[in-house]
Order: sequence, then C-alpha cells, then structure tokens
Amino acid sequence: MKKIIIGLAVLALIVFGGYKLFNNISSGDAITKSVQFDYENVQQYDGTKAYVEVNGNKPYFTEKELTKKAYVKYAALDTLKRVSSTMGCIGTETMPEDDEKKDSMGDNYPTGWNSEKYECIDGDGYSQKRTSCIARFLSGAYTEKRNIITASPFMSNNMNVYEVIIARYIERTSNHVMLRVTPIYKSDELMCRGVLMEAYSVEDDGAGICFNVFLYNAQPGISFDYSTGKSTYTGEYLNLAKVTRDYQYIINNGTMTIHRPDCENADKIGSRNILYSNAEKEELIGAGYTAAECCNP
Ligand SMILES: [Zn+2]
Repeated sequence: MKKIIIGLAVLALIVFGGYKLFNNISSGDAITKSVQFDYENVQQYDGTKAYVEVNGNKPYFTEKELTKKAYVKYAALDTLKRVSSTMGCIGTETMPEDDEKKDSMGDNYPTGWNSEKYECIDGDGYSQKRTSCIARFLSGAYTEKRNIITASPFMSNNMNVYEVIIARYIERTSNHVMLRVTPIYKSDELMCRGVLMEAYSVEDDGAGICFNVFLYNAQPGISFDYSTGKSTYTGEYLNLAKVTRDYQYIINNGTMTIHRPDCENADKIGSRNILYSNAEKEELIGAGYTAAECCNP
C-alpha cells in the first residue's frame, strides 16, 4: 500500500515583527511576486517543531493568481543554479493516473547535495533526499530539475503530509488547489533553510484547503552546513516525540500506526518514520493508518 497520510497542523504562529518584502526570495520572478516572507522573522529550528505557520496560516496568493485552469509552472534556476519556486493550479488534469515511480530523477542533483550516511537516520540512513517542490503525484513531473531540491528526509516526509492532504481533497472533490512551494535560502547558501508551502482550494474559497507553512530543512541528530549541504553528527533532538507534544497525533510511517503524543511507543519512533498530525482520526484511518493498540488514540 502506498504510504500516505492525511494531516493538518494547526500550530502557534511564531513570527516576530512584520514582513519585509521579498527578502530571501529570488526576486523578480513572476511566480514569487506576491510572496512576502522573511526567513529572519521565523524562529530558528530548535527540535520542537517540524514546521511553523506563516502569515496566520493564510497563503499570499493574490486574486489575480487564483485560477481554476490547471497548470504547473517552474521558475528559472537562479544565478547560483538553485531552484527558485514551483507554482501551480493542481487538479485532476495535472495529476498522473498511475502512482508508480516508473521514471527516475536521473542525473539531476540539486545544489547543496552532499548526502552522507548516519546511524541515527532511519531508512537508508542518508542525510539528504532529492525532493520535488511539487510532488510528482500532484504535478506529474519527476525529472524536472527546476523542481528538485536537496531536502532532509525529515522535511521531505513532512512536506508529504501536506501533499497527500491536497491529493485526497482533489480526488474527493475534483476541485483545484493553488499550490506554491518556495525554497528559502540564506544569502548564497546552496541548501535551502526550508520551504514555504502555500495552498488554497479555489472552487470553495479555501474552505477545503488553506494553509501557509514554513517547513524546516533540518534533520534531528545532525546539523547541516547550509552553504555546502555537508553535515555533522550532533545527536541533538533525536527524541522527537517527546518534544512535539503539541500535535494531536504522532504517526509511525513505518508501521502505519497512529499514537497519542504521550504514548511511550511514540517516543521510540525513529526520525525517518515519525510524522505529526492534527487531522481527525477518521481522516487518518481513511488514509490507511490504524490506531495503535498500545495507546488506542
Ligand atoms: Zn501508542
């Protein structure tokens, strides 16, 4: 079964002060024109959160940008060859019918690619994962290099939570969802500090999907040198469940089970398989997860 998850996080807004226009955004590109985001105003990653809400969770799309006409647009790579932004009106038209990864990402290695193996990272153990700004199951694109960034497995998994929410919503309603994913870089660094993910369902004026979150491109247990993508072991924040009690559920993406945040088994889920969700339990069960017997959430 496809590993999918539906989750919706409602987190405290951790943004201090006002926004400065276009700071940290590759300016001048039409795709990011309406984005008003300043990385300096976001709380530093401290191991307690996978992502934070931005702008009161309201996306920056302007009326003019909203459309029901499906498309996916990739901004040009910037002067450092970094991915700038991907935006689209996602609908059944852009979603591929088959869900299999028949093609590969080929030789597309994004900037900041310096993947190394660590014992503290579950799965294949690598510190980085080539990740699409807009996932293939939404955009149909898998080899588009203007769409592929260097992501930590932790960020990649948490992006997936949101992407699956969108996919299930579109399958259910046949509506369209505006989606923009913007990697956020600090000065000339080659690996982004995180991505800004904005989404808005068009036909129902955001009633179904509406969020604006910044996801940290961090990996518990290691720290990145974002200028090169190289990493070092720190051992910090490895016990993720303990420090993320403010989510409604902790999910083990390996065993596909849902746990209460205070469950002792939730504390044992490795960094690769842990996901966070504030979705309804029924939604998660509908997405293929089961309530764990240990804590019966
Ligand atoms: Zn449990």
